[in-house]
Amino acid sequence: MMDYGPAPESAAIAMDWLKGRAFGHFINGAFTKPGESFAVTNPATGAELAQVAQGSEADVAEAVKAARSAAKGWAKLSGGQRARHLYALARLMQKRERLFAVLETLDNGKPIRESRDIDVPLAVRHFYHHAGWAELLADEFPGMRPHGVCGQIIPWNFPLLMLAWKVAPALAAGNTVVLKPAEFTPLTALLFAELCVEAGLPKGVVNIVTGDGRTGAALVASDVDKIAFTGSTEVGRLIRQQTAGTGKALTLELGGKSPFIVFAEADLDAAVEGVVDAIWFNQGEVCCAGSRILVQEQVAETFTARLKARMAKLRVGDPLDKSTDVGAVVHTTQLERIRGLVDQAVQQGAILHQAPVPNGPGSFCPPMLLTDLGAANIANTEEIFGPVVTLMTFRTPGEAVELANNTRYGLAASIWSENLTTALDIAAQVKAGVVWINGTNMFDANAPFGGMRESGFGREGAREGMLAYLTSDEASGKERKAPA
Ligand code: NAD
Repeated sequence: MMDYGPAPESAAIAMDWLKGRAFGHFINGAFTKPGESFAVTNPATGAELAQVAQGSEADVAEAVKAARSAAKGWAKLSGGQRARHLYALARLMQKRERLFAVLETLDNGKPIRESRDIDVPLAVRHFYHHAGWAELLADEFPGMRPHGVCGQIIPWNFPLLMLAWKVAPALAAGNTVVLKPAEFTPLTALLFAELCVEAGLPKGVVNIVTGDGRTGAALVASDVDKIAFTGSTEVGRLIRQQTAGTGKALTLELGGKSPFIVFAEADLDAAVEGVVDAIWFNQGEVCCAGSRILVQEQVAETFTARLKARMAKLRVGDPLDKSTDVGAVVHTTQLERIRGLVDQAVQQGAILHQAPVPNGPGSFCPPMLLTDLGAANIANTEEIFGPVVTLMTFRTPGEAVELANNTRYGLAASIWSENLTTALDIAAQVKAGVVWINGTNMFDANAPFGGMRESGFGREGAREGMLAYLTSDEASGKERKAPA
């Protein structure tokens, strides 16, 4: 019998917490009675995990009202007092890290190794990091003040981490928030709501309204001072139109089609491992996934052979198994979307190579590599948001830059070369908000993250991320009252 590593993590800790619960919204420090609701399911099995409320316009208005009444008191606290609340939240998240990790894996389908070692610790770190910014606020940002009430809309790929990226800086800057998690993955946000109560956060500072795109649209239209959105470029475009001329501040973190450039002198084995992290981490459901490999012609054959061999060894399966490399994609609709785009890519002439995938229920998608395709192939132009990577070759550095920039997006890029002069020279020419050299998908609370072109605008993390949650009368171009 083959050894598949340690036994799977037990789901019991999360099932005990869920206990077949029906969740209301978290408004003004308490959960509302659930009205109209929908089922949240485990993508690895299809089983229902909980019933969650579908937020109406009235629910959103009530949450915004609560956030508005809390805004004045919260903004009046000293930075140090707000920092204490953020430290308390960070500590409580750490205390429940195992529950958060298992719940995230059940809800999203990502491997437990990733939720345990990446999502949860990074989310905690964001709260600690931003507690520090709260302490420094008056000295570091003189003359600036919070926007007031922030509406925050997040996607399903890193549910808790995206919550942390949004909530921690907003609170540190003195804003109050109404957060809408993605409909596929609201559970860790609801657990976070419980911690807000336990941490003694003043009522109304954090409000969470669950629901689908209609709830998000209601939040965008509501009486908030700022919208922070992470999600698809299509919805981002809609929100930009909806907020134009309303005076609401806006930041958008959208999609990507990031290049992964391998030069002939690169450490090819390291670059192959880099691809594993770039596109097969989190099932490729990563906005900055390196989804277009560009490899220099003279090493293309060797690199492709090694990559195929590595891909065949990836373990796709039970997300709770600690030896799983690739879990389930978030939902069957996402699986169908991925398959549809890959079918079109093949119809347009691409050759498909893929790893084995387990039989049985659950929305599992094999890691895929598409070769022999041109720059105009749909797999090179559309964000697939799945474990699918394309591979093209280039001859000269100039050609690599041209191919890398041949996209409407500009979120990230990864460059592999043992010649740092080449790497730095190419980095300066690639149009992307984040560029990694001999690495990929590296995130830190102290490094601002965000895109250019159709990948959005605004930064999350570090000083730049704090600026996105602060304003001044000069910045807003008008005289404004302090949050009431
Ligand atoms: P999505 O745009 O469908 O949904 C994102 C969120 O917006 C969800 O909460 C959804 O309910 C809500 N929403 C949907 N329609 C809305 C509307 N009309 N008005 C307001 N809110 C609405 O995206 P998704 O499928 O959940 O997430 C995947 C996308 O997110 C990908 O394109 C990915 O690249 C992007 N993403 C970007 C970043 C980044 O930092 N740039 C990070 C993660 C994900």
